Amino acid sequence: NGEDSEVNSENVNTFLSDMPLCMQRLMEGVSVNHHLKYGGRQQLAFFLKGIGLSADEALKFWRNQFTKSMSAERFNKDYKYNFRHNYGLEGGRINYKPWDCKTIMNKPNPTKSEYHGCPYRDLHRDELLVMLGKLGLEGNRSTDDVLDLSNRGEYQAACTKVFELVNRDNIDYALKTKSGNVDQSSIVHPNQYFDRSRYLKKL
Ligand code: SF4
Repeated sequence: NGEDSEVNSENVNTFLSDMPLCMQRLMEGVSVNHHLKYGGRQQLAFFLKGIGLSADEALKFWRNQFTKSMSAERFNKDYKYNFRHNYGLEGGRINYKPWDCKTIMNKPNPTKSEYHGCPYRDLHRDELLVMLGKLGLEGNRSTDDVLDLSNRGEYQAACTKVFELVNRDNIDYALKTKSGNVDQSSIVHPNQYFDRSRYLKKL
């Protein structure tokens, strides 16, 4: 079940259910378009770095995706530098950190062909419902609460609610068996969402 395996370019998709909706949307964007615009590339690349994808594996992941829509030469010429730069391997050699929700929401909103940002803020209600359906929450009455929170501008509360719905069984198990600390504080960072999900699965 890959629970203790390291994240690499081949298995990264198996961690989708541990990712918050913003990152699932970006993963979907890259797998459908074999490309992401700058804002989306940055948001997803730093997140993947945070979940343990090494610089080499990251380059493989992006190359595999992008070269389905462009030549390897074009990838090397136009994009390789960007992905190496994210790991501090080019330019100013800065060790960039994964973005928290606040940083993500302070960036310009996505246009129609962009996938970055926060889906609870950026998606139309119907699109959000489709995404929640893909998480297995179709018909779950609590999705109304998620939509209400999104409507009220409480995006992180909506995200926290979704985390609880998706991980309900694991949370209940942890509470019942007192086998670990169940952190029920608000989600403020996509990598916190991921780490919390992995932690619960390992209990
Ligand atoms: Fe991503 Fe944060 Fe929005 Fe959740 S609240 S989807 S982690 S930006």
